[in-house]
Amino acid sequence: MLDSYYDIFEGRCHSRIRIAIKIPSGFDKAGAEILSLEELLDVHKQLIQPFYETATPEVPEYYPRKEISLLELKALIARRMLSECTICENMCRVDRTNDNRGICRVGDKSFYASEFVHVGEEPEIVPSHTVFFTGCTFKCVYCQNWDIAQSEMAECDAGYAATESLTEQIVRRANSVRNLNLVGGNPDQHMANIFTILVDLARLGYPRPVVWNSNNYMTETAVELLTGVTDLHLADFKYGNNDCAETLSKVKRYWDVITRNLLMEKRAAEILIRHLVLPGHVDCCTAKVVEWVAGNLPTATFNLMFQYRPEHLASEYPEINRHVSQDERYRAIDLATAAGVAKPGQFC
Ligand code: SF4
Repeated sequence: MLDSYYDIFEGRCHSRIRIAIKIPSGFDKAGAEILSLEELLDVHKQLIQPFYETATPEVPEYYPRKEISLLELKALIARRMLSECTICENMCRVDRTNDNRGICRVGDKSFYASEFVHVGEEPEIVPSHTVFFTGCTFKCVYCQNWDIAQSEMAECDAGYAATESLTEQIVRRANSVRNLNLVGGNPDQHMANIFTILVDLARLGYPRPVVWNSNNYMTETAVELLTGVTDLHLADFKYGNNDCAETLSKVKRYWDVITRNLLMEKRAAEILIRHLVLPGHVDCCTAKVVEWVAGNLPTATFNLMFQYRPEHLASEYPEINRHVSQDERYRAIDLATAAGVAKPGQFC
């Protein structure tokens, strides 16, 4: 489990961004600029194929530097998408380059609330250089990071600007961490600016794996853009059906989107799935999530999480306005253990 992630961390192979920065796109910058978004996406789709076959595709030692690389092409596409944003399945189609905001309330610049070396995550990933970006594509009524995910912080462009100074800080911390962990809030809506930072990091030979720590509600296009970028998907899988997701996180087609994305992601990277057990949702959500993971992603690392506490607007939803009971905790553990997705003692 997580073999490729450890290979990168321990220096046996390069991270995906260091490979993608060496793959020529076939265009120089001016040539790429005149192509439509659809044409760029067609080129991109061809170029990412090797990542589905192997984590470390063959790359030329040298190619003409006037061509932009696959990683730069991804950054260009993600920025182009801001003009009619379809990064996530909310599909707002707003022009974020013109200061319009969609459901995530994030504009075309990116801000983060904090960055530090996190030691409180799964044992496989700590110590982890965690960057908490602002805003979120979900509106979870129990959000435990609501101050950075759902407050005015995203709308007001508050926090620290994600620019060259963040790149420098990531490089400075490289030797004391196992990975770069992009989270929030949520990282997806910041894809364009994060890719710009990753281009700089890849050019500098940043040696750590890139972890994309997301609610995973991206469009297929966004998942493809992360192919050849993300070494480890740290993917939330909260709900076992669309109705619970619509009630508690205000998103539609949750189950369809998340299961589709996980199946796409498993073709090109490793996955660590996190399932937060919610009070009153063991049968409708935990049982269904565990069953699906056992049947479809049996080799994914799975973490059953019990740190739910009623926060934010939870008091308006009586069913979740309490902690998970001991009975619910034991039942969730039994379900995960019986399905074989987790071993006793693996839970946090
Ligand atoms: S990232 Fe998602 S929520 Fe934000 S504007 Fe784009 S489509 Fe809307």
